[in-house]
Amino acid sequence: MSRRHLGRVGPFRHHNPLEDMLAQLDKAASIIKADPNEIEPMRHPKRQVIVSVPVRMDSGELRVFTGYRVLYDNTRGPGKGGIRYHPDVTLDEVTALAGWMSWKCAIVDVAFGGAKGGVTCDPKLLSEGELERLTRRYVAEIFDLIGPTVDIPAPDVGTSPRVMAWVMDTFSMKKGYVEPGVVTGKPIVLGGSRGREEATGRGLLITVANVQRKRSRPLDETTVVIQGFGNVGSNAARLLHQAGVKVIGLSDVNGGIYNPAGLDVSRVLTHYSEHHTLAGFRGAEEVDNAALLELPCEVLIPAALEGQIHEGNAGRLRARVVVEGANGPTTPEADEILKERGILVVPDILANAGGVVVSYFEWVQDRYGFFWPEADVNARLEEKMTVGFEGVWEMSEQYVVDLRTGAYILAIKRLLEARALRGLYA
Ligand code: NAD
Repeated sequence: MSRRHLGRVGPFRHHNPLEDMLAQLDKAASIIKADPNEIEPMRHPKRQVIVSVPVRMDSGELRVFTGYRVLYDNTRGPGKGGIRYHPDVTLDEVTALAGWMSWKCAIVDVAFGGAKGGVTCDPKLLSEGELERLTRRYVAEIFDLIGPTVDIPAPDVGTSPRVMAWVMDTFSMKKGYVEPGVVTGKPIVLGGSRGREEATGRGLLITVANVQRKRSRPLDETTVVIQGFGNVGSNAARLLHQAGVKVIGLSDVNGGIYNPAGLDVSRVLTHYSEHHTLAGFRGAEEVDNAALLELPCEVLIPAALEGQIHEGNAGRLRARVVVEGANGPTTPEADEILKERGILVVPDILANAGGVVVSYFEWVQDRYGFFWPEADVNARLEEKMTVGFEGVWEMSEQYVVDLRTGAYILAIKRLLEARALRGLYA
């Protein structure tokens, strides 16, 4: 694994998201006493590919980046999962993320398996032209591995609808016909879905509403702190604020802002689009990222990267509920500490599934060539998220386990049933 992960999570543990994902899977499998012969295939990705991505930089230099695409599972449908551009991307990280996608798609019951891709790079240091050349060459290198019936990429950390448009164009040019269904999270004019860009944030709003309903807590008395102000964090903040939730803390990689009386999120968004930082926002005090996670609040939404809540800070969190916007933000050690402290964790593979649900709707619309009004997308999203939430809640009550283990149990049961029906190809 990359040693760089150590820098992210502090000195507490050698942190590997793939180990975390497998530990979570094994825990749930042992609780339902699943046959190890049936679980073993779920512990192994179907396919892992590493590619070299040579890019001519603006300076004339030729740099070679490393790219990955992992298809973890395709039992219930083609692989589905984002493309990450980040300096810390490793094969283990991409594999963990692909595994989480597999469990997530089973929980919200969309006809996809799980996949993920990434390129180890810092997109903030690339010009627009370099980013385009990198994307096109990466897609050319994984061309044989993706497609609307095979494996369908989407945006993740460091990528955007703009990048997805280049993915769609490169794939279509190589095929010789237009194939919008090869990728989701595209701009709407290229076959994107209404509501996709904010879908993960909207899914988080629905999840916060669902968990607060179970806790008999009204939304307008709920306070929320969000770590990460990218696609997921900023859309969640905006939609929660619009729903009457008091957003009191926000952060991005450079630090955060806090106002216990509530932040005016629309003003924060204007400030962010003008200054590209939260710093300097008037009407809030500045806090660093470590302090932000420990602010007193009812709901904490980590929406940045893996391993942010770990054994070193889990004992100091002052939230009542953690709703995971990011993938893998809580280590298994931290999970135990939070459980002992009575802090409820709504796991990533349920809470942030709004993105893949609307990606599924986008893929369906592309394949039909018929596009839905935004109200239809949002209503169907709410239904999928709520049915998934109730299913996970039911499993956690039935087996008397935390919600993460309940979510894994639901996913494992669905996958085992599908695997048994397909049988073992030999
Ligand atoms: P993004 O690139 O749009 O935003 C990432 C944000 O995290 C940025 O604001 C960045 O400044 C911030 N950040 C990075 N390191 C940080 C740190 N140490 N502390 C605080 N903030 C930090 O990415 P995104 O698409 O919003 O994804 C965020 C998380 O949500 C990832 O874990 C991703 O896998 C997950 N996710 C994304 C989607 C989606 O649809 N985009 C769907 C499901 C899950």
